[in-house]
Amino acid sequence: MTARAEPTPPAPSGSEPLLRTTDLTRHFRLGGIFSQQVLHAVDDISMEIGEREIVAVVGESGSGKSTLARLLAMLYRPTRGRIYFRGRLLESLRSRRDVLWYRRQVPMVFQDPYSSINPVFRVSHGVMRNLTLHRPELRGAARRAEAERVFEVVGLTPAREMLAKFPYEMSGGQRQRVGFAQALALQPRLILADEPVSMLDVSIRAGILNLMAALREREGVSILYITHDIASARYVADRILVMYGGHVVETGPADAVLADPKHPYTQLLLAAAPDPREPAAVDSAAVAGEPPKVVNPTEGCRFVARCPIAVDECGRVTPRLHSVGVGHAAACHLALADPGWPGGSRDGG
Ligand code: SF4
Repeated sequence: MTARAEPTPPAPSGSEPLLRTTDLTRHFRLGGIFSQQVLHAVDDISMEIGEREIVAVVGESGSGKSTLARLLAMLYRPTRGRIYFRGRLLESLRSRRDVLWYRRQVPMVFQDPYSSINPVFRVSHGVMRNLTLHRPELRGAARRAEAERVFEVVGLTPAREMLAKFPYEMSGGQRQRVGFAQALALQPRLILADEPVSMLDVSIRAGILNLMAALREREGVSILYITHDIASARYVADRILVMYGGHVVETGPADAVLADPKHPYTQLLLAAAPDPREPAAVDSAAVAGEPPKVVNPTEGCRFVARCPIAVDECGRVTPRLHSVGVGHAAACHLALADPGWPGGSRDGG
């Protein structure tokens, strides 16, 4: 029997952003219930995503960016902190109906398209399943027409022929477009795109980045774009969050972060990515050293072992995000504070 998700009326949103988090935190206990080892995958992230906005979350493997995406997808429960969607606290969504309501509006597109495409069915299967489950008002020919429409929107044309293909008959880029089509069939407000281009050839990455920009323009959808490649964020992002060791270390309008990065880690990422036309040449692995595994962390900057400009204070005092410009913040003791920041100490958080 098919479960049907009736739309749940949203709470009045007023001036609320589309999605907002406060002090969002996720820890994992390592090695069993008696272990004292706790991995701090995500610590104290407060962020917002607006309507029709593309926000890029940039960081290396182990930075916590995929854990953040899974928290927002309700695949993990927060250890601490809150998530609000259109003013509604996610913790308050308890019934299956309410969770389906949220997942319809905030679907996820995975790094590996095979995670969300069943290889034994034609690619029409996933789109039709989503339409059946989440949009039961569409039936028969209307359902089929909507499946063709979303395939056309994501560039899989002629749609009727493409819907009849099996995944193995498609290229990696086409399969990733199927993932976006499945999401689009839900009429989402926000798509969580977890490294959607990292497994693709350079030659087809730009096509998927252009697709995300087109979805924002034509369908009015917001996108959280998770990536290890800061160069690709240049193409599509309105705002950038740079993550390191579970913390946001820099955030701001994409133009400001890219033109005038304030955190040494962002500066190193950009130095390794000088040519925005060559995303293949860019990888945060170019930053010397290994990313930290943040287990039972003590006070101090988590970037200190790799930072070329660290001072004594860095190993003793954890830097907090502070304003370094309009809408621009960095968590570094040596990033000069914006004098207009209210209360403005450099570590003012
Ligand atoms: Fe480097 Fe210190 Fe800034 Fe951390 S706080 S990024 S160690 S200068």
